[in-house]
Amino acid sequence: MSRYQHEEEEHMVHAFQKFPLTIVRGKGSMVWDDAGREYLDFMTGYGVALVGHSNDAVVRAINEQAAKLITCHGTFYNDARSAFLEKLARVAPKGLGKALLTNSGTETMEAAIKLARRSTGRKKMVSMKGGFHGKTYGSLSATWSPKYRDPFAPLLDGFEFAEYGNPDSLSHLVSKETAAVIAEPIQGESGIIVPPADYFAKVREICDREGALLILDEIQSGLGRTGKMWASEHWGVVPDIMTVAKGLAGGVPIGAALTTTEIAGSLKGGEHTSTFAGNPLSCAAGSATLDFIVENNLPARAESLGNTMKAGLAEIARKHKLVKEVRGLGLMLALQSRVDIHSQLLSAQSKGVIFAYAGRDTFRFLPALVVQPDEIARALDVLDGVIGEEEAKRFR
Ligand SMILES: *Cc1c(COP(=O)(O)O)cnc(C)c1O
Repeated sequence: MSRYQHEEEEHMVHAFQKFPLTIVRGKGSMVWDDAGREYLDFMTGYGVALVGHSNDAVVRAINEQAAKLITCHGTFYNDARSAFLEKLARVAPKGLGKALLTNSGTETMEAAIKLARRSTGRKKMVSMKGGFHGKTYGSLSATWSPKYRDPFAPLLDGFEFAEYGNPDSLSHLVSKETAAVIAEPIQGESGIIVPPADYFAKVREICDREGALLILDEIQSGLGRTGKMWASEHWGVVPDIMTVAKGLAGGVPIGAALTTTEIAGSLKGGEHTSTFAGNPLSCAAGSATLDFIVENNLPARAESLGNTMKAGLAEIARKHKLVKEVRGLGLMLALQSRVDIHSQLLSAQSKGVIFAYAGRDTFRFLPALVVQPDEIARALDVLDGVIGEEEAKRFR
């Protein structure tokens, strides 16, 4: 164990499951460890390094803003914040021109839940089996996994779960007492689950019928990752509240709950604020990130490179009986194995490629949208190799 690993183990609460790797530097799709070894990063902090690690434009914006003003409480106006809000409104779905700024994904879900309760005056929420929305109490109450929930009960009252992808299951649960339905347009954490094509149109109808709001969590799927700016565009729906975070500021902590003027208006001054919300540093990084996404048309890039990568994954699936299924859209992809993939993840790391989990048996691929075709080819090659080795071990 290296000095850094020893010190983290010594002084940090063991909140994260760890890989034995110390990452000290990154550029684009690549990261380097403390011994100078390079790795192709297809995990990117679960999609945070969306515009690539230490993107030049983001680094420049952070440097310039840091020298000028790092903190400015939301009780004052600020130039970097107003510029970011204007750019965010420009890429937001039609009608969602108001943003409540936050510092993380889970905090953005808290904001969405409070906005929904405040504006409807209703208390009940329906979220989805398999859904993941974060680990603070409000968002945890909307998260499905008993592994995350059970040790911390009681959670918020009034949350129920519908079967994801099944409009009938949702229809039974939504009533005139439902404040909002909460869903991911594509489920990330539970294995990159893509719903039936007509599902979300029906979800929208059910919400409208009962006067419930629709909260779509685009924290992982948004900002071009799936081949469109917002994954909900694939389904032709606009939510009442949309949550964005992860890659929004090139790796700097930030989040935004986007909503309508009317819903935003239900919140009175002071009712939901946070000290760091809308700080100039993350806003400057956010502006540089949004400009980079738009100027380089990253959604289109994610679509075409995603097709290439998915075809490569399908080829691997055909070759290996250990592979159960390939799923996903754009550069939000998964390959489900028939076995636990832990040793395969470690083996891939030893060959210089970092993949993520989505459940014990599923590889999740969330490369930077600036990934190069030859980097995808290399990642596929390593994946093919580690699956082949695992197969050889099991079917010898
Ligand atoms: C990561 C994620 C969250 C939580 O974000 P944090 O910044 O980790 O709190 C919520 N919803 C989805 C869909 C996510 O992928």
